[in-house]
Amino acid sequence: MGMKRLALLMAMTLSLSTGLAAKNKKKAEQPLKPMNEFVSELMSKMTVQEKIGQLNLLPSGDIQTGISENSPISESIRQGRLSAILNLKGVDHILKIQKMAVEESRLGIPLIFGMDVIHGYETIFPIPLALSCSWDIPAIEQSARIAAKEATADGLSWTYSPMVDICVDPRWGRVAEGAGEDPFLGSRIAEAMVRGYQGTPDANSQLSKVNMLACLKHYALYGASEAGRDYNTVDMSRVRMYNQYFPPYKAAIEAGVGSVMSSFNTVDYIPATANKWLLTDVLRHQWKFDGFLVTDYGAINEMMNHGLGNQQQVAALALKAGTDMDMCSEAFTATLEKSLQEGKISMDDIDQACRRVLEAKYKLGLFADPYRYCDKKRRATDIYTPEHRLAARNLAAETFVLLKNDGMLPLKKQGTIALIGPLADSKNNIPGSWAPTATYQYPTLRDGMERALKGKATLLYAQGSNICRDSVLQADGSFSRTIPRGDDAKLKQQAIETARKADVIVCAMGELQEMSGECASRSNLELFDVQHELLEELLKLGKPIVLLNFAGRPTVLTWEQQHLPAILNVWFAGSETGDAICDVLFGDKSPSGKLTTSMPQNTGQIPVYYNHLNTGRPVEEGTQKFFKYQSNYLDVRNEPLYPFGYGLSYTSFEYSDITLSSHQMNADGTITASVTVKNTGRYDADEVVQLYIRDVVASISRPVKELKGFQRIHLNAGESQTVTFSITPDLLKFYDYNLNYIIEPGDFDIMIGPNSRDVKKKTLTVL
Ligand code: BGC
Repeated sequence: MGMKRLALLMAMTLSLSTGLAAKNKKKAEQPLKPMNEFVSELMSKMTVQEKIGQLNLLPSGDIQTGISENSPISESIRQGRLSAILNLKGVDHILKIQKMAVEESRLGIPLIFGMDVIHGYETIFPIPLALSCSWDIPAIEQSARIAAKEATADGLSWTYSPMVDICVDPRWGRVAEGAGEDPFLGSRIAEAMVRGYQGTPDANSQLSKVNMLACLKHYALYGASEAGRDYNTVDMSRVRMYNQYFPPYKAAIEAGVGSVMSSFNTVDYIPATANKWLLTDVLRHQWKFDGFLVTDYGAINEMMNHGLGNQQQVAALALKAGTDMDMCSEAFTATLEKSLQEGKISMDDIDQACRRVLEAKYKLGLFADPYRYCDKKRRATDIYTPEHRLAARNLAAETFVLLKNDGMLPLKKQGTIALIGPLADSKNNIPGSWAPTATYQYPTLRDGMERALKGKATLLYAQGSNICRDSVLQADGSFSRTIPRGDDAKLKQQAIETARKADVIVCAMGELQEMSGECASRSNLELFDVQHELLEELLKLGKPIVLLNFAGRPTVLTWEQQHLPAILNVWFAGSETGDAICDVLFGDKSPSGKLTTSMPQNTGQIPVYYNHLNTGRPVEEGTQKFFKYQSNYLDVRNEPLYPFGYGLSYTSFEYSDITLSSHQMNADGTITASVTVKNTGRYDADEVVQLYIRDVVASISRPVKELKGFQRIHLNAGESQTVTFSITPDLLKFYDYNLNYIIEPGDFDIMIGPNSRDVKKKTLTVL
């Protein structure tokens, strides 16, 4: 005890003698020296161990449970061997730990507090895949801004978002976390999220107090895990990387993202975290990234499983490749000093990484005021506010994709409505799989419908089924937020009796929220057995049925498309799910979401995506026949069930032919392409007008279609609007075989339409 106090006192005296901790306190009022100078001065005072400490990120662990003062993690903080903490929620905890770093470590360097704030903090927005289906870039940016405002009001300053991995394989559960299959849309969303989280830094590079550092992830190609199995091998050509998978990463870098997370997978047979080409040549040299690079959780140690050596070897590989911060492997703190002594790494390697991390702390304003994110008053005023909830509700309504409607939607608020299904009243399944900061107190769909129908119609409810039979899942126990299980036969009987009394049936079915996200791959994407059987029984009642499909991924709905009159894909829509679904279901808003992933006809078709190559033996799009010796299947046509960009509305839109301002364009010129869109139905509604191109002849094979523009417009019933896209050389460029980004003269198809399938077309010649 005596020794401990003595050590503490010595540490405090040392810290005071350097003056830094004391300075930190005063700096709130005083501007700092310019970043370079400040960081150099600080580094000149640091020992090797302290520098390595700045490369260490650990989970909050025992701090959260309150035994912080004497825990190993607290000791690391006091010794300056910890730089940042992950997953500590609550400004009180964070303030206490920050004080420990600032007042009890020798140099008083503040910690960064990071968290997976992925689609909202306590006001939860729809899952990222759903957000992308809104194609509403300003609203997506606002969702990130709100998330940052709430998170920074509770002590956090770093989020592990945006996740921008392109994915064409919905078996992969993490498709839920990204923006779908398209690099152009993915890039616009990546930029918007970065802007939303980080805001505009001031002249001194500092973020404001209501903004936080974003972290681009997972760099790179994580969405291409073989067979959709999480953490699996990735292998692809560089041409494909640059044209299809890299653009959103690059866009986020150009938008100024402050940190990047490397991915778990291999790239060219080297784990991303040790891949120098990826982390240094591409990221730093080609794209000019100047922030810091953190590994994914435990990724350095995982390199031992990848077969790259022991802990000391893999840690050195990671550092030398360009990794700056070790997330949760403790491999840097365990081995770098030894590697330095043995000449396996240099002091420059350590200095470079340490500098980048300190620069991030500087940009976060933590040296000016280490407690700037610990304003307890903001915790009370800035979180889960009515304005934030309204923004989430509005955006959620824009993410729902109407897949089919035989005219039964919107529903009238009258008569008797039966709400049936395991997702109808499950609080556990409202926020989505990646919302660790959610409070789980949000209203359910049933709550929302009760409110919406009060005094107007009768609402009946029955759970109807379990999610699936026990035998289906081999993952018992890993669904902590599952739905309590009931007897399948009884549940079904109750549901049928309930539905019999109703005029219409609303089915809330699909996946549990934990069936998407990390380590939640599925090999069969159809609706689970007991839910499917219940639907069949309900259909026999001969009443109109709408399926609200809850899903964290594109699922297979071929049977449902054939048998049900209406399907609305509602994903996981966040804290305002209940009200947002009612807004659309009862027609206060017309659905306007458009798919950002193709939805397959069956699981065996995967990967099916719209921007594929033509092959040497293509079959005509839309053909219903099988052609021997052509590229097609015996048992299913090539098209997805619902194509990329698809989504219906309560109204109808008519597209005019395309007008090009010129049919020829110089390679450095610009032309415009326009269509007039008319709302020919009875509802005021939003429409997402989409521009696609095809480079008809090129030096490499090019996709049959590529999204190159989109505009979300609002048209009242009967109204028309001319929508104009500028076609610039940049839109027509691609990475050629030698990875040069070029435009090649020749013909380009210019296509505009309401989705990637139903387009009008004109030809443009580039001279
Ligand atoms: C995930 C990351 C996440 C990190 C920290 C990892 O398992 O892959 O996406 O940011 O954990 O929670």
